[in-house]
Amino acid sequence: MFYEKCLYVTRPEQIESKGLWSAFTVITRYVERSDHDRMCVRCNECGQLYFLEMLESGWMSGAEVTYYTLIPVEAEEDAALFKDLPDYEILAIFPRLQRAECEGVAESWHWMGIVSE
Ligand SMILES: [Zn+2]
Repeated sequence: MFYEKCLYVTRPEQIESKGLWSAFTVITRYVERSDHDRMCVRCNECGQLYFLEMLESGWMSGAEVTYYTLIPVEAEEDAALFKDLPDYEILAIFPRLQRAECEGVAESWHWMGIVSE
């Protein structure tokens, strides 16, 4: 697939060790709110483009949970197609990288819909 050259296909945990904003550069912001961001970002290692969503939600037993989603795209125009989708439709897109963080405790980045060794 077009995104297979990206380091994070096989090593998604390196996003965490590098830090999200060292791993990626923002190309275009589509949604920019205190609790919801959507943008197109570029991998600083290989130039692969991703759609990135960060969404805060307070429903899990009153705790604040932040969800991160990265979807590989071939072109910026493809990322723009996702910018107005409802959240449940974003969750129906595969493959995607995701991570959740709750009160400072984070699960690691992992792929949904891809087998990585
Ligand atoms: Zn990459």
